[in-house]
Amino acid sequence: TSFADLKLSEPLLRALGEEGYTTPTPIQAGAIPHLLEGRDILGLAQTGTGKTAAFALPILHRLAQHRVPHTPKGPRVLVLAPTRELALQIDESFASYARHMRFSHAVIFGGVGQGRQVEAMRRGVDVLTAAPGRLLDLVNQGHIDLGSVEVLVLDEADRMLDMGFVRDIRRIVALLPQDRQTLLFSATMPRTISDLAASLLRDPATVEV
Ligand code: AMP
Repeated sequence: TSFADLKLSEPLLRALGEEGYTTPTPIQAGAIPHLLEGRDILGLAQTGTGKTAAFALPILHRLAQHRVPHTPKGPRVLVLAPTRELALQIDESFASYARHMRFSHAVIFGGVGQGRQVEAMRRGVDVLTAAPGRLLDLVNQGHIDLGSVEVLVLDEADRMLDMGFVRDIRRIVALLPQDRQTLLFSATMPRTISDLAASLLRDPATVEV
């Protein structure tokens, strides 16, 4: 398969060509068709397999196809990641693949001042990538409304649980619309992850690489 076979939109294909991507990786070939159909997914994949593009590309495709009439108060897509480094990488990947689209994004993590992150949210964003702790702080202060989230991604879910974020994740999920698409990626599948997946995902497709 090629990226064109996956029926990704032209602005995305152009960005991928510029990035020098020619062939989808196995996680991309496995996950993208399900995600374009709107299905939930449980992805078992390590870093380095191309998992970021496996979720970012179909999400961007759907954002472009389903424009919303009014700028929503909060993000349409929420990506949760365990660390600042990973959150920044994910945010940069979205921005890179979306370079030929109209697209706004922000990234949120602790350890730095809140001011610029709050300001970025005020302007409205399509995709928000966040570490759970700081996200909850800003939600609790009324700076972020999660009521318009259409897609939730949990990336490196096993690391988030190892770092003690399970309660934060459950608090965040409780604030999201029930009617949403949910994607969970993890490098390992301990009982805690399969329990979390069972409670968050609806009839998921499982993709393992
Ligand atoms: P990830 O597993 O998402 O951290 O991606 C690992 C690296 O592979 C990143 O530097 C991506 O830019 C790159 N990458 C992802 N998908 C492809 C692809 N289909 N072809 C070439 N490089 C890719």
